[in-house]
Amino acid sequence: VSAAPQDSPDVVVIGAGVIGLSIAWRAAQRGLRVLALDRGEPGGGTSRVAAGMLAPVAEATFGEQRLVEMKVRSAALWPVFAAELEAASGTSPGYLPVGTLYVGRDRDAAEALAREADFRRSLGLEIESLLPGEARRREPALAPSLRAALHLPTDHAVDPVALCAALAGAARDAGAELRSHTEVAELLVASGRVAGVRLAGGARIASPRVVVAAGAWAGELAGIPAEARVPVRPVKGQVLRLRDPAGPGLLTSVLRSEDVYVVPRGDGRYVLGASVEEKGFDTSISALATYELLRDAAEVLPGILELEIEAALAGLRPATPDNLPVIGPSAALEGLFNATGHYRNGVLLAPLTAEALAADLTSATNGVGHLSLQADPVEAR
Ligand SMILES: Cc1cc2nc3c(=O)[nH]c(=O)nc-3n(C[C@H](O)[C@H](O)[C@H](O)COP(=O)(O)OP(=O)(O)OC[C@H]3O[C@@H](n4cnc5c(N)ncnc54)[C@H](O)[C@@H]3O)c2cc1C
Repeated sequence: VSAAPQDSPDVVVIGAGVIGLSIAWRAAQRGLRVLALDRGEPGGGTSRVAAGMLAPVAEATFGEQRLVEMKVRSAALWPVFAAELEAASGTSPGYLPVGTLYVGRDRDAAEALAREADFRRSLGLEIESLLPGEARRREPALAPSLRAALHLPTDHAVDPVALCAALAGAARDAGAELRSHTEVAELLVASGRVAGVRLAGGARIASPRVVVAAGAWAGELAGIPAEARVPVRPVKGQVLRLRDPAGPGLLTSVLRSEDVYVVPRGDGRYVLGASVEEKGFDTSISALATYELLRDAAEVLPGILELEIEAALAGLRPATPDNLPVIGPSAALEGLFNATGHYRNGVLLAPLTAEALAADLTSATNGVGHLSLQADPVEAR
């Protein structure tokens, strides 16, 4: 009988969100004994709230070219990642390659959209300008008053809840152990390197490698020396889950405007998002955010007001000061690996993060030197 991971894990992963689960799966596939711990349920943190857009083009931001390149690379991994995951887990991660329509509802928005399109084209990103009539031919439920539209053929979507369930199944099948309701109280350091973790109940788990994939809470973990700590803060986002009692058909592609997005799940369910709020660890639902989301969405998709509200949710995006995720071995503490700070794009960046981290972990086990994504997010790989 081979040793169960908990007896002597090669790697402990703190946090089983989309990032920790993806790493657990990829690392277990490479033959590492992986133990992933979460104080809640796998996929129950911010990943549960995410809309699931895989949007390297829509989310391209001026001044963040390196991040844009990472997003494009991860988006390119998605079709194979989704197919492999479905085969491995036997469940669909809800990957929908439906593209995105980005619409402007008045003259100012149309001018802004033209500038956004120029910027993206200057980066070599695929984008198509549409006349409003053409956009409405593709999505008849769009408001007749729209002034401009862009088609982003490579910006797709996935259902993060189905995705996390599939990842948990695939990680377990590959040999990883996932433990729910198990809070890590402290990282253990001995002789200047990682020695394992201490759980909230007091038990210690020895491991030479620990991956911090604790999302917005990564900056709060005790035991990490100041010089190895990643500055992550929570940025609150509120979404509404909606359902069309008439079934699918209101909207096929992902829809974005300056203010809101609507993401179809393909079965009559939609996610409408999202607020962006600096409120610390607050996850309350506000009447104002709910009102603003529905008001702004109805301006571009009036039929949204016919839908039923299934749930209102708030999540905490793990943000860093420069919006770049921190992925790879810590330069300050041997045995510590970071995979956090994915801010608005953790779902999109999960395949790239997991491949990079699994490679880092494997080369660390073999004692082979390597470049990390953290040191150089784009050029290094
Ligand atoms: C409203 C909203 C919409 C979003 N939409 C998108 C989108 O469309 N596309 C996209 O790519 N991204 C989107 N995001 C961002 C995305 O959700 C995040 O980047 C991603 O979920 C981060 O994943 P994670 O695994 O790092 O964090 P999480 O999913 O939060 O996982 C971290 C886990 O760590 C656990 N944990 C923390 N501390 C401890 C501890 N001490 N011990 C044990 N366990 C611990 C938590 O319980 C949690 O389960 C959105 C976010 C929000 C809020």
